[in-house]
Amino acid sequence: MPQKRDYYEILGVEKSASADELKRAYRRGALKYHPDNQKGDKTEAEAKFKELAEAYEVLSDPVKRQRYDRFGHEGLRGAGMHDFSSMGFADILSMFGLDDFFGGFGGRGGGGMGDRGYDLETEVELSLEEVAKGADQTLEFERMDLCETCSGSGSKPGTTPERCRTCGGHGKVQQQVEGFFGVSVRIIACPKCAGRGTIVSDPCGDCRGSGRRRKKRTLVLHVPAGIHDGQVIVARGEGEPSKSGTSRGDLHCRVHVRPHPLLERRGDDLICQVPISFSQAALGGKIAVPTLNGRQEIDVPSGTQNGDVVTLKKAGLPSRRSGRAGDQHVIVLIEVPKRLTAKQRELLTAYADTENVHVTPGRKSFFDKLKDYFGVKD
Ligand SMILES: [Zn+2]
Ligand SMILES: [Zn+2]
Repeated sequence: MPQKRDYYEILGVEKSASADELKRAYRRGALKYHPDNQKGDKTEAEAKFKELAEAYEVLSDPVKRQRYDRFGHEGLRGAGMHDFSSMGFADILSMFGLDDFFGGFGGRGGGGMGDRGYDLETEVELSLEEVAKGADQTLEFERMDLCETCSGSGSKPGTTPERCRTCGGHGKVQQQVEGFFGVSVRIIACPKCAGRGTIVSDPCGDCRGSGRRRKKRTLVLHVPAGIHDGQVIVARGEGEPSKSGTSRGDLHCRVHVRPHPLLERRGDDLICQVPISFSQAALGGKIAVPTLNGRQEIDVPSGTQNGDVVTLKKAGLPSRRSGRAGDQHVIVLIEVPKRLTAKQRELLTAYADTENVHVTPGRKSFFDKLKDYFGVKD
């Protein structure tokens, strides 16, 4: 996964920055990266702005900021982070209520220009064993949800919100924009009613008229077998409710596969290194190797060389595409003892004496080449 930058660094503020300083830093960046202020390529500015928005989302929220200060990026798992990659510039601006800014993308968020709720992003972590079989993971995350007291209307129960006079209840107004290429007209969320089309005159006490409250959500997510680190599973309709409350955004779950202490993943194959003794290599025998199904005994043939590979067919991970299982490759590493007992020394010396008589093939060809090299004739 790409390394995330420090949020304070992105905003260019001190760790002790106040809410006001943060907002100023965010506004500065929004102005700098605004599409109308880009002469060349807008994609880089947009990426920078999304990074800025993410930093601002965390640091402007006291709960998320505290988690981030204590645990870093890790602390934000399941904290209900928005997935800015799926949003446009205007959506992000309206989300953090930069009223009176850019002529007013008004109010707090709740939906984009279309009636669609925001997408959220979370992480799901699993072991290699779980990747092999697939797993149901219980996710806990926080999201802004419809207030139950007022069913999301924002109005005190028994009262009804009035139709907004600025936009006539449409939630959208035309705005003239003076940009780099002259004046253009665009449709924006109504700044008076924040795109809702209605004005709450008698606000609900539980949500203070916003119609939304932060809630914990528990969800069982099925992670299919063979998934890879960094892949994203989309849980449809698990994001935040739209302005009208009739639809929801999605929850994007980024998969993180925990590294295994003994097995290394390469595609759908697994690789492990198993040390064996010199005598095991020479004589051959059975050794125990770790697999995803537990210990497995394998035969090492006599005369095994350092770095030789024994392949366990289909002991790897299932392929997401074909469903076929990969293999496990066992790399054999020969360990030479660092210390010998008197008995071992005696036996090995006796063995070494025999080596002068029975020259092994590898040594034989080496000595032949050596002789050629020095021009020695037998
Ligand atoms: Zn309410
Ligand atoms: Zn309006």
